[in-house]
Amino acid sequence: MFNPTTEVTPGAEMIDFRALPKIELHAHLSGSISRQCLHEVWLKKKGESAQSVVDLPDPLIEMPEGKHDYDLTTFFPLFSRYIYRLVDTKWALTYTTLSVLQDFAADGVVYLELRTTPRAMPQAALSKADYIQTILDAISQFESAQSLSHDANPSMKTNLILTIDRRNSLPEAEEVLSLTKQFFNKGVVGLDLAGDPARTEIQHLAPVFQKAKREIPGVGVTLHFGEAESSGTDDELDMLLLWGPPDRLGHVIHLSEGIKEKVIRRGGVGLELCLSCNVRAGMITGDYGDHHFQEWYKVKNCNIVLGTDDVGVFGSPLSNEYALVAEHFGLSRSEICALARQGIDVIFGGEEEKERLRRLMWHE
Ligand SMILES: [Zn+2]
Repeated sequence: MFNPTTEVTPGAEMIDFRALPKIELHAHLSGSISRQCLHEVWLKKKGESAQSVVDLPDPLIEMPEGKHDYDLTTFFPLFSRYIYRLVDTKWALTYTTLSVLQDFAADGVVYLELRTTPRAMPQAALSKADYIQTILDAISQFESAQSLSHDANPSMKTNLILTIDRRNSLPEAEEVLSLTKQFFNKGVVGLDLAGDPARTEIQHLAPVFQKAKREIPGVGVTLHFGEAESSGTDDELDMLLLWGPPDRLGHVIHLSEGIKEKVIRRGGVGLELCLSCNVRAGMITGDYGDHHFQEWYKVKNCNIVLGTDDVGVFGSPLSNEYALVAEHFGLSRSEICALARQGIDVIFGGEEEKERLRRLMWHE
C-alpha cells in the first residue's frame, strides 16, 4: 500500500487523502480492529493468565502484518475461531472499540457508521443489550474526549448499525430487531444483513426487515447484496429489493443486467463499494482497474460511498481507498471531493448531521 498523503493523481494534482473529510458507512466493528490492538489485548490477557487465550496464538503470528489475502472461506472462521474469542470481555470490547474509533478519526473520517452483530458474552455476564450499551458508551467516551481536545481536525460522529447474520434463525433475527428498537435514537440508526454468502436459505428473515421499517420510523436498512456468486442470484436479489425496502446496498458485485436496472430505476440508493476488500479477498475477477466502481460511477442517480469493510483484515484505510480510485480511474481533485460528498445524502444519521457534513466536507 502506498502512502495516501503523498499520492499524485493524474493532472499532477496533489490530494492529501487523509486530510480529505470522509464518510465511512461500511465498516464491521470486529473486522476493523488493528492487529496491533488485538496484540495488546492478547498481551494483557496473557499477563492475567486468562483462560480464553491459553491456546490462542499471538495475533501478530495468527494474522501477520502484510497478510491480507483472506477469502470467503478463511474470512468468516477468522472471527468465530479467533477474534471473538479474544474480544470476549467488557474491557476488551471497550478497548478495541476505542482503538477502532481512534484509527478512523486519525484517517480523516468525519462521519462513521459502524456495524456489528450483537453478541452475548456469557463468561463476562454480558447480554446482547449490554454488548451494545458497552459499544455506545465507548463511542460517547470517545466523542467527549474529542470535544475536549484542541485538535484542529473536525470531530468524528459515530452511529451504530446492528447486523442480522444470514445464519440467524427467525427468533434470533427478531431479537436483533427488538434491540434496534430499544437503542434507536440512542446511537443505533439502522439494520444490516451480512454473514457468509454461502448460506443461501434466508427467506425466513424477510418479515424482520419489513417490520423494521413499519415499527421503527426513520430506521435505515442496508443489505449485503450480491457479494458472492452464491448470493447473487436473481431470486435472492429480487427478494432483497423488497426487504424494507433497503436504503443502501453493500458490494453489488454479482448483479444481472435486470437487477442493475431495478437498482438504478429506484434512484437514490446508496452503494457501499469496498475495493480493497473485493480485490484482496478475490471477490472480483481482476485487479483494482477492473472493479465495478467504474461502471457504477457513471450511474448518476445512485450514491456511491467508498468503504473499508474490514480494515483490520484487508489493511487498506479509507484514505487509501480514495487514493486507489484516483489512481486507477483517473479522478481529478474536484471529482474526488464530489465523490466523498455523495455519501452525505445516504447516511442514516439524520438531517442535522447531514447539514454538518455539507458544511465541512470539501467542495474541491
Ligand atoms: Zn461487509
